[in-house]
Amino acid sequence: MGVVGLAEFVAGDPLTRQAVAETRRGIFDAHLHIPSDNGENFQWHLVTRNMPEFVAYLDKCGVRRGVISSSWSNKAQTPEDYRNGNREVAKYVERYKGRFRGSCVITPFRIQEALREIEDCRKQHGFVWLGEFCNYMTGYKYDTPEWAQVMRLAARLNYVVQIHTNTQEMQYLAETFPETTIVFPHLGGSQKEIFARIAIVAQHKNACIDLSGSGIERVGILERAVKEIGAERVLYGSDFTINEPSAVIARVRNAFLTPADREKILFRNVERLLARAG
Ligand SMILES: [Zn+2]
Repeated sequence: MGVVGLAEFVAGDPLTRQAVAETRRGIFDAHLHIPSDNGENFQWHLVTRNMPEFVAYLDKCGVRRGVISSSWSNKAQTPEDYRNGNREVAKYVERYKGRFRGSCVITPFRIQEALREIEDCRKQHGFVWLGEFCNYMTGYKYDTPEWAQVMRLAARLNYVVQIHTNTQEMQYLAETFPETTIVFPHLGGSQKEIFARIAIVAQHKNACIDLSGSGIERVGILERAVKEIGAERVLYGSDFTINEPSAVIARVRNAFLTPADREKILFRNVERLLARAG
């Protein structure tokens, strides 16, 4: 994404030179769920109900950019639901020029329609990100022929795929689809789980971890992730509107890491993934 695109993220308002430079180094959240136009919102008790409030809260937290997906798509009961969700993502990417990159979410129940939607999002809307997929929300599995079709199409179209998994699913996906770039959100709950998840990502070059959700609040875990995986495959993500974006940023800022590693985690890694995807 060029300087011009980023500079236009406040529609109509030209930015100062300083603001442009700052935006280019701005924090990039790899894991955002927007409040949907149909009222779907993952936040447990609503305080940011719509896009203007969502964006204002990100401003308050110092998050300048991010990958957005629609909760309407995650909760889809029919292909029409996820198509609507993905179109609202495209609409907001357009409205907040340069601020967000759009992500396509499908459910695999009617697989031909799902595959077509993945193609359409790439060709018509320029999306290069899929997910966050959350199989538990509508009850599907990742170890099926249908899901393998999704993973293979993702690799063919050069998508980054973000998938919520338990540790076993994580191992299976990282191992089975080495051609697909996969971002696994969440470090984990227990110490055992966190260490296992870090080890899986470390062993699979196609895998990255995003820092959203549980685990990041345990001091030292981020340092362990960087030590085992390398700073290149650790991404800042918050899971906002569910979780607090600035809590994760605070841990990254306070962590015993080099300034260069901190920059990689806060924005350079996700920029690299997006640029590589097209
Ligand atoms: Zn999430």
